[in-house]
Amino acid sequence: MYLVEDKAKRADVRTSEQLAGEGFMLATPIASPGGKWEHFPNSHISHHGKACCDIAHEWLIAYDFAQLNGGDILSGPRWMREHSAWGPSAWPIHWCEAVDAKIVDCGVHAAIAQEAFVARGLRAFRAQFIQRYSADAAASWRESWGKGDVSDHWIDGDAIYHEGNAVVVGDDHVKLWDGSAGWWINPRGEAGYGSLAAVRIDARVDSFATGLLWGNRRIPLNLWVEI
Ligand SMILES: [Zn+2]
Ligand SMILES: [Zn+2]
Repeated sequence: MYLVEDKAKRADVRTSEQLAGEGFMLATPIASPGGKWEHFPNSHISHHGKACCDIAHEWLIAYDFAQLNGGDILSGPRWMREHSAWGPSAWPIHWCEAVDAKIVDCGVHAAIAQEAFVARGLRAFRAQFIQRYSADAAASWRESWGKGDVSDHWIDGDAIYHEGNAVVVGDDHVKLWDGSAGWWINPRGEAGYGSLAAVRIDARVDSFATGLLWGNRRIPLNLWVEI
């Protein structure tokens, strides 16, 4: 799976859905912006407390730096998706395993991207998303996660819980990175397939008391905000 393929298919899918007179909005609105993930924590990669994980962590920082190749430090670390495709990951996972794995979920992508952004000297926070998909997409993900013997708690009806990063780009402006898709989420807000229904920026900091500005929307920190 296949966020990337979904993105490619998106225009077609939408057209045929519209022709069929169906929308991709949630069948029933989620009760609160966080839905069943109201108190769900961000995924954290474990450390063996040994050189194996130190070396893996150092490798990823060095590799990100090499991929950046003197480019804009605000460019998204797209290499991560090439290095490890999006799919089921078993948790817990340690740094040495996470960096080696060929298939990882968005929690791993987000945890790795976070280290890279911070190592570049950026202020970055973990972000949690709820996105609208379709019953068909949810069913196929349930099947792949089932085959991988991995929990599909992140699927609820046609909505999914997903993880990424919030990167501060100005005084209080932020960009939202979806590492598993390999793109910055468009703040102009669409309501269709794959769109953002809610976001929570996990930032236990004293700064940004009034939240962070994403596009023209102010996002208070540490709260699920409906988009
Ligand atoms: Zn290790
Ligand atoms: Zn996800």
